[in-house]
Amino acid sequence: MNNLRSEEFRTWRRARWILAVAAFTAAGVQAQNPVEDDLYGHVLLLEGKTSAERGTYIETTLRKSGVGYMTTPFRKVFINRGDTVRIAGNNIVARIGRGSKRVVVGAHFDVSTDSPGANDNGSGTAVALELVRRLSRLDWNCSIDVCFFDQEEAGNVGSTQYIRQFVIPSQYVIMINVDVVGMGDELYVGPTTGSGSSVLALFRDAAQELGVRMVEGREYPSSDHESFTKARLQSISMSVVPAGDGQRLSTYLRNSGAVDSSSIPRLLSVIHTPDDRSIYVQPASLKLAFEVMSIVLRRLNEQL
Ligand SMILES: [Zn+2]
Repeated sequence: MNNLRSEEFRTWRRARWILAVAAFTAAGVQAQNPVEDDLYGHVLLLEGKTSAERGTYIETTLRKSGVGYMTTPFRKVFINRGDTVRIAGNNIVARIGRGSKRVVVGAHFDVSTDSPGANDNGSGTAVALELVRRLSRLDWNCSIDVCFFDQEEAGNVGSTQYIRQFVIPSQYVIMINVDVVGMGDELYVGPTTGSGSSVLALFRDAAQELGVRMVEGREYPSSDHESFTKARLQSISMSVVPAGDGQRLSTYLRNSGAVDSSSIPRLLSVIHTPDDRSIYVQPASLKLAFEVMSIVLRRLNEQL
């Protein structure tokens, strides 16, 4: 496909989706749109916003959904190379289900500087919002904290704060982190060397059920799962990536970025750049992430 045709297609698709979002906003959040429409609608409404504006959007969406949530502001001051660094943020935690066992779903909503953040992590935020909206009324044996973490990009600060405030080790089951799920059709789960490998079988089942390829990465990019691993709590991360990128990401990380140009992960041309835009986010990828998480959470719930 040449560039012009590609651009025409994107313009058409954008127009179609803006109409879909208009319908989404006017009808309110209880409307039963196809899940990919609602997911992509969230990405469009999150794109280009600051972290604080994203937080406001998440709270507004949760309020309309009728699900209880809490906001937990935090501050952190530390010295970096002689300079005092001050970080402030605000985690948003929606709780669904009931019971003493606690599963955590994480999606950071803060955005890297100079990036519109459609895929990283508007995509994961959208999936987390729809998990709350669509799964809250199911009969759960456990409670699920769906956490919208702030300040992941500053070194997983928000998730570290959540652990300090809310995790009771005897009740805690696992944290499943949803980060960058907006491009491609390959499920990438990891790190497999981490403490969360106990749920890998559930991800394999979900991938098989949905007929998608899954790559289990020994290596996985830094994200909020690391805060939990450091605290000796089970955790794992999942992404949806372009075909082949699961392997490329693992190799890239294992070699500290020293790979030939053909092995550079495709995602890196977009993530943390001004090109992390909704035109490169695919509704089908978002839907795949939502469906995988729905299956994994339901199966995990059956085991508790
Ligand atoms: Zn991210």
